[in-house]
Amino acid sequence: MDKETSKPQPKTAGDQRRRPNGNGSAKNRRRQQQANPMAVRLMNQPAIPVNKSQFNGASGEQRTQVKSRVANQADSQTRLRVMSLGGLGEIGKNMTALEYGDDIIVLDVGSKFADENQPGVDHLIPDITYLEKNKHKIKGVIITHGHMDHIGGAGYLLPKLPAPIYGSRFTIAMLEKQIEEFKLQVQPRFTIMDPDKHERVQIGAFNIELVRVGHSIPDATAVVIRTPVGTVIDTGDWRFEPNPIIGPPMDIDRLREIGDEGVLLLLGDSTNAARAGQTPEEHLIAPTFDDLFDRANGRIIISTFASSVNRVQLIINAAEKAGRKLAFVGRSMLANVELGVKLGYIKVPPGMITRVQDGVKQEGDKMVILCTGSQGEVNAALSRMATGDHPHVKIKSNDTVILTSNPIGGNIVQVGDLVDQLMREGAKVYQAGTQAIDGSGMLHTSGHAFRDDIGELISIIRPKFLMPIHGTFAMQTRHAEVGIENGVKKENIFVLDIGDVLELTADKAECKERVPSGVVFVDGAGVGDVENLVLRDRMTLGSDGMVVVVAVVDKRSGRLLGSPDIISRGFVHMKESEELIGRMRQEIRKSFERRDKGRPADWQRFKLQLRDEVSDLLYAKTKRSPMVLPVVHEVDSRSSKNQPSGAPQQ
Ligand SMILES: [Zn+2]
Ligand SMILES: [Zn+2]
Repeated sequence: MDKETSKPQPKTAGDQRRRPNGNGSAKNRRRQQQANPMAVRLMNQPAIPVNKSQFNGASGEQRTQVKSRVANQADSQTRLRVMSLGGLGEIGKNMTALEYGDDIIVLDVGSKFADENQPGVDHLIPDITYLEKNKHKIKGVIITHGHMDHIGGAGYLLPKLPAPIYGSRFTIAMLEKQIEEFKLQVQPRFTIMDPDKHERVQIGAFNIELVRVGHSIPDATAVVIRTPVGTVIDTGDWRFEPNPIIGPPMDIDRLREIGDEGVLLLLGDSTNAARAGQTPEEHLIAPTFDDLFDRANGRIIISTFASSVNRVQLIINAAEKAGRKLAFVGRSMLANVELGVKLGYIKVPPGMITRVQDGVKQEGDKMVILCTGSQGEVNAALSRMATGDHPHVKIKSNDTVILTSNPIGGNIVQVGDLVDQLMREGAKVYQAGTQAIDGSGMLHTSGHAFRDDIGELISIIRPKFLMPIHGTFAMQTRHAEVGIENGVKKENIFVLDIGDVLELTADKAECKERVPSGVVFVDGAGVGDVENLVLRDRMTLGSDGMVVVVAVVDKRSGRLLGSPDIISRGFVHMKESEELIGRMRQEIRKSFERRDKGRPADWQRFKLQLRDEVSDLLYAKTKRSPMVLPVVHEVDSRSSKNQPSGAPQQ
């Protein structure tokens, strides 16, 4: 691989739609295996995503022309540029940048979990090419709250965004913990802002204020950004919560005051814009816990997200009421609880917490075990308890297992597997989805505002322009509808993609330009070193396996010596596929015969040809496309020992 292609090559959002499919046409199959740097570069050309939404800023016309950015454009001093680099058309890796003249501020540095199409990738972070090119302009990074989809990219992104970081107290604490293990060479400068004091800081052209909102983690905030052309509000993740479990309620009065001052643009959380009504409050879960704790005869093993700190407090309260001791299990659970207790957000009655290994011995059936793994994650505590892999806890009959969360997206199947396993071990299982048949109360509520709440917030803030963020395209579009229902003009609503730049003056907003955007794969400790090519290889290997063809040829004549060796891994069992292997050998021999023997051996070219011919044969016979790796050994057949000369050509 040459130097050019070994550089990080972030995929663009447009590429995701064009990802070659492992079972596609022969052309697709070739492309999947093609080690041609040019082809990879072409695939990475940023495309304009399809957006014919009536809210696309062009009355539903697909934009085809992209104005290229002219440096020091005459009027760029007078316009505010707002661009999301993550979190639009997707769930996760939230990041939005605001640019005015020579100043840029960045809101959130989120990450996103990899899915089954990205084998071996840990998570995904936004492509920040544009910010890196304009590094000198970046004056500050503001974080809305401490969830991974807002801080998970910090360890990779903050070193590239050399600017002070602002956030509420718990948010900054979560962020510091998040970057601890990265051992950054330059420690970021953190500034804690108190939303309850309406504290404000000037960062370049931007005046920043945090406003408290309700969410499933303490100290979640909206960000108010006063700019020379008007005020912008990013809601962060939010829900109304008049009776929060931890801390003061959402500061609706402050948002109304700022609404009275006039708000130019609202960047709003779209997560639940398609869910009718209002978000049920967190405290409504408490009676369910009391009821189920009451019903339990044996141990109670309860699982939720480690980052749902408010839920953790509810579980502590329920355990206290039931007079049970409590142990925390799972690395992230222990870390978050420790932080929450240390900073005084989580309140634990003295003497109630025990180490799990002591608790299971001393307390027996009187224990409550709070653990990670409610999404059925294979390596998380609950799955390991179910399979008997956990060092201290093994599920037994008489255990009550409570999953206080909903399966997210693609996790439905693995949660199903987990519940299967738990029930095989004899546990009584309660899930949010089965409350009707269990006759139990509510076991989960969302941290994000439902449709009616979103509408209410829009009518409180009364923005001139609305840009739905934090959600899929459908969620953004639903949010746009709510905007219209609540008095925002249709032409003032922008459902955009990552990379789109919304340019604003005090009375106008338009979207005509794009900046580079997309996703960077994080693989172990490396950032961006997993390329499309590597991913395609992993997908091919994972789904169809590989076949290695080893041909020994005479160095002088280029003649095939003996029968080619065929090695297969993850494709077919050799012994049971003698016929197929025989056909392959035949095909390989024919390829050698067809080779133009009048010219010097160009083994590189020949290997590509051999690969394609073998691939086509295997596809025709098996409808599968294993990775085919031809290896040609050149030997001097006249030498007595018949040893390969030099390294094999791979
Ligand atoms: Zn959140
Ligand atoms: Zn979020």
